[in-house]
Amino acid sequence: MKEYVGKDTEEERYEKGMILPSFVDGHAHGNLGGSRMLLMCSLNGSTTLEENRERLKAFVEAHPEMDVIQGIGWNDATFGPNGPTAAMIDDLTDKPVMLIDFGHHSYWLNSAAMKRKNITKDTPDVADGVIVRDADGNPTGCFREGSKIYFEDLVYHFSVEQYKKAVLAYQDVFLAGGVTMLFDPMVNMDYGWENLMEACRQLDAEGKLKIHLHGGYQVFVDKNPVRDVEHAAELREKYKGKNFAVDHIKILLDGVLESRTGYMNEPYSDSDDGYRGMLRFDLDTLAATVKKANELGFTTHIHTIGDGAIRVALDAFEKAGTVPDNRPALTHLQIVDPADIDRMAKLGVVVVANPFWFLKDPTYHQKLSIPYLGEERAENQYPMKAFFDKGLVVTQGTDYPVTLDISPLNGMQTAVLRYLPGRPETLLNPKERVNLSQMIKVATWNGAYELKCEDRLGSITVGKEADMVVLDSDITACDSEKIAAANVLGTMIGGEWVYTAK
Ligand SMILES: [Zn+2]
Repeated sequence: MKEYVGKDTEEERYEKGMILPSFVDGHAHGNLGGSRMLLMCSLNGSTTLEENRERLKAFVEAHPEMDVIQGIGWNDATFGPNGPTAAMIDDLTDKPVMLIDFGHHSYWLNSAAMKRKNITKDTPDVADGVIVRDADGNPTGCFREGSKIYFEDLVYHFSVEQYKKAVLAYQDVFLAGGVTMLFDPMVNMDYGWENLMEACRQLDAEGKLKIHLHGGYQVFVDKNPVRDVEHAAELREKYKGKNFAVDHIKILLDGVLESRTGYMNEPYSDSDDGYRGMLRFDLDTLAATVKKANELGFTTHIHTIGDGAIRVALDAFEKAGTVPDNRPALTHLQIVDPADIDRMAKLGVVVVANPFWFLKDPTYHQKLSIPYLGEERAENQYPMKAFFDKGLVVTQGTDYPVTLDISPLNGMQTAVLRYLPGRPETLLNPKERVNLSQMIKVATWNGAYELKCEDRLGSITVGKEADMVVLDSDITACDSEKIAAANVLGTMIGGEWVYTAK
C-alpha cells in the first residue's frame, strides 16, 4: 500500500487481528427490525402465554400515545397448530392489538382489532392464507399468511419521521457488526403508504444513510403482481439515491415449516390427507411476474422454504426465460431435492442461505421438525456444501429480526460447525459442512455479487471503495468454536470510519 500513502494519509497499526472486506447481509429485514426495536412490543423469546401477556401489558402501559398496539415475536411452538386466540388477550386493552409471529407469517389479533376491521364469521377465506376459526366458524384471532389483507393497515403503519429513527437505529446495529451492505426484502412493508421508502430517500439525501441499502419491492398474487412490478419501476426512479436502490422484486412463494405452510414435494409426515403446505403463487402468475421483472431490469428474490416451492420457482424461471447475468435469488432453501440443485446451477441462481439456522434448534427440532417432516427430512435440512459442489454462488442472510444477533461471524461459525458450541446434541446434517474460507467469501464478495456490486465492493482491491472491517483476532487461526467470539474494532465505508468500538 506504501505507494498510496500521501501527506494526508492517516496510518493505523494493528498488532494482531484481521482486516477483511466488510460484510454483506443478503437478506435482512432491517427496516422491520428497526421498527420493532423502537415502535413495537417485543415478544421474541417468550415461551408461555403468561409471558406474552406480561410483555404486552407493560407495552400498553408504556405507550398511551399509540392508537393501535403492534407487536412481534410470538412463537407457534407456544400455542400448537391452531395458534393463539383473541380471548387470551382481550382483557389487557380496549385498543386494537396486532401481533406478528417471530417468523412473520402469522398474526394474532384481539377482538377490538377484528371489530375495527369488521372481520366476522362472514369474512371469506383467502386462497393464499388461513383464517383460524372455531367450531361455529368465528375467527379466533389467529391469521396466517395472505389472510393479512383484511387488516393490512394495522401492520407497520408508521410516519416518515418514525421510520427515519428506525432506519438509523438498525443501521447502527449492522455497522457495529461490520455489515456495510444489506438487502431488505420488504421496503414496501407499509403496504402502499411509501413512508418507509421516503424515509430512506430523505436519510440518503441528508447523507445519514451510510450503509448500502438494496430494497426488494414485494408483490402479491391477489394484487395484480405484473402491474405492481411496473409500479415498482416508477418507485425505483422516485426514491433512488447514492446508497438506496429499490432494485429487486420480492416474492413470497410458500410459508414456513413450523406453521406447516412451507410447500413440500411430499406430504407433511403428520398429515392423513396428503397435505403438502401452501403455494402462494400459481406457476403461470409467477412466471409472468418474473418475466415482467426481467424486462424492467429487476432481480427477483424468492422466498422458498420447501422443496416444492423451490421446484415451482425454478419452473417459473425457465418459463419466464433467463436474462444474461440477471442473478435471480432463492432464499432459505430448508428442504431441497438434490436434482433441483443442477437446475439452479444451469439457471444461474444465487443461493441466499441462512447458516445462522444450521443446527437442531432446541425449541423446534423435537417438537415440530420431526413430527412434521419425519426423521429423514428433518435430518437433511439446510444443505450447503451441495451448492458449492455444483458451483453456485452462495450468500448469507440473517433474516433479521428472525435472527436478532446479526453478526455475520455467527453464520460463518455455524456453517462450519453445524452445532452450537458446547451443545453437541444440536448437531444437524454434518455432511453439509463447509470451510471457513468458503464462508468468508460467502459473507463478502458473494454478497456483493448477489447485489451486483462486486465491481466496486466485496474485496480489498485497488480501485474498489474501501469498505472494510477490522476484527480483534484472526478467525482463520482460532478454534472453529471461537470464530464468532471475534470482536469488530472498526467498520469503514468508502475509506471513512462509520463505527469504532469504544
Ligand atoms: Zn425474510
